[in-house]
Amino acid sequence: MAQEISHFIGGRIVAGKSGRSAPVYNPATGESSATVALASTAEVRSAVEAAKAAAPGWAATTPLRRARILNRFLAILEQRIDTLAAVITAEHGKVLSDAKGEIQRGMEVVEFATAAPQLLKGEVTENVGTRVDSHSLRQPLGVVAGITPFNFPAMVPMWMFPVALACGNCFILKPSERDPSASLLLAEWLKEAGLPDGVFSVVQGDKEAVDAILTDPDINAVSFVGSTPIARYIYETATRHGKRCQALGGAKNHMIVMPDADMDQAVDALMGAAYGSAGERCMAISVAVPIGDKTADALVAKLEPKIRALKIGPGTDPEAEMGPLVTKQHYDKVRGYIDAGEAEGAKLVVDGRSFRMQGYEDGYFVGGTLFDNVTTDMKIYKEEIFGPVLAVARAPDYATAARMINEHEFGNGTAIFTRDGDAAREFAHQIQVGMVGINVPIPVPMAFHSFGGWKASLFGDHHMHGPEGVRFYTKLKTITSRWPTGIRSGADFVMPTMK
Ligand code: NAD
Repeated sequence: MAQEISHFIGGRIVAGKSGRSAPVYNPATGESSATVALASTAEVRSAVEAAKAAAPGWAATTPLRRARILNRFLAILEQRIDTLAAVITAEHGKVLSDAKGEIQRGMEVVEFATAAPQLLKGEVTENVGTRVDSHSLRQPLGVVAGITPFNFPAMVPMWMFPVALACGNCFILKPSERDPSASLLLAEWLKEAGLPDGVFSVVQGDKEAVDAILTDPDINAVSFVGSTPIARYIYETATRHGKRCQALGGAKNHMIVMPDADMDQAVDALMGAAYGSAGERCMAISVAVPIGDKTADALVAKLEPKIRALKIGPGTDPEAEMGPLVTKQHYDKVRGYIDAGEAEGAKLVVDGRSFRMQGYEDGYFVGGTLFDNVTTDMKIYKEEIFGPVLAVARAPDYATAARMINEHEFGNGTAIFTRDGDAAREFAHQIQVGMVGINVPIPVPMAFHSFGGWKASLFGDHHMHGPEGVRFYTKLKTITSRWPTGIRSGADFVMPTMK
């Protein structure tokens, strides 16, 4: 019988009881490696009950003690990074070095969160009025939840829960059902680090579990990362049910290549940004915008041989630069986009559809693909493909390129490659995108800054981790106090003013 990947509730692994499950595949071989339990509303509720029971004790635990647990968790992650990376590669398909990279970026958020005593310091003003003082506090929200996508099964949960826990909240994680195992290792290691039972739970599941989270009266905030239609639904439903919500959506990230850019550097940057993790990154560059035909011709001429030489293989092959796509369904979808681009008249310079991985004929491999002469009315320009497909959309000048980016539905990340400081400054200043790179193709903010896009790439007011994460996972309280010698006699019927 296939192994069933189950829930982690109240400090222990709990088998699924709903009678519903879904297959989990090894994308390199196409074989089903396990099944994952899909939680019912009642199973989500049991995680909420466990979190509610643990919440007062955890909120009362001093920030320093919470930080010490996170420090021990960090040490465990450091020791067992290979184990976690292997689990990610087996279910997601990305190459092991890339899986380690995502764990590293997640660990940086844990490192940030270990500063809890510093992060939670409030503000004090002595004498806001005569002998009257004010101070502000940040208090936890209580029970909060995170719903995460398949493409970073360790890092995206770690954008959320280290900060939520550091701030004194209990956290329920609903990971992607396509690569659910990493979440259970994280839960077990948190427990081993000393986290009390119920403070962190994992409920595996699909829409039923998500809807149970969105409507549960005892969950006070929801963090989401995934595709834009679901992000919009999550934000609308969660806020309608009185919850705080941050919902990060899809992307179509453009990289402008100015005529003065170092072309070799730009090409290397594009190769990693477009084809790393088989393009299944929300910060992947999927559109290159060279300025002028001369720049475009040079760019395409240098890209083409490199794309043909991409080392593709199972994620466990240390030589591989790029692995398979996550599922058969996604493989079909990405190939469908390549069909569509060809039918719409874009020039298919490198076609990844014919790629076959010897020995892994049933794996979900698509080769690196390059389109030239892509125009803004094409489906392959407008929609997120989330595969190893790079579109070159030529622009005659910088102003046209910037307008293309600003008019696009998504506003997650973008980059410019140039040696011209004025052009770079103008770009950073006026572009309508949340994360901007200047000669940096994937400008993912570090843990102590905050991550988030604009437009249809984020619904809500707060970006993730860093200072924005602390604000999202805490409520502000401001206390104004006066002691007997400062109290004036007599009732005051006018709006209080400080004298
Ligand atoms: P997805 O939207 O299909 O799934 C995300 C989560 O939502 C999963 O946990 C899934 O179980 C749940 N879900 C799916 N359909 C649902 C439904 N109908 N109702 C309720 N819940 C549902 O996304 P994915 O395919 O797992 O991930 C890829 C997407 O995530 C891409 O669009 C990518 O750009 C985006 N992403 C964005 C960021 C960012 O920071 N903006 C980061 C990573 C990934």
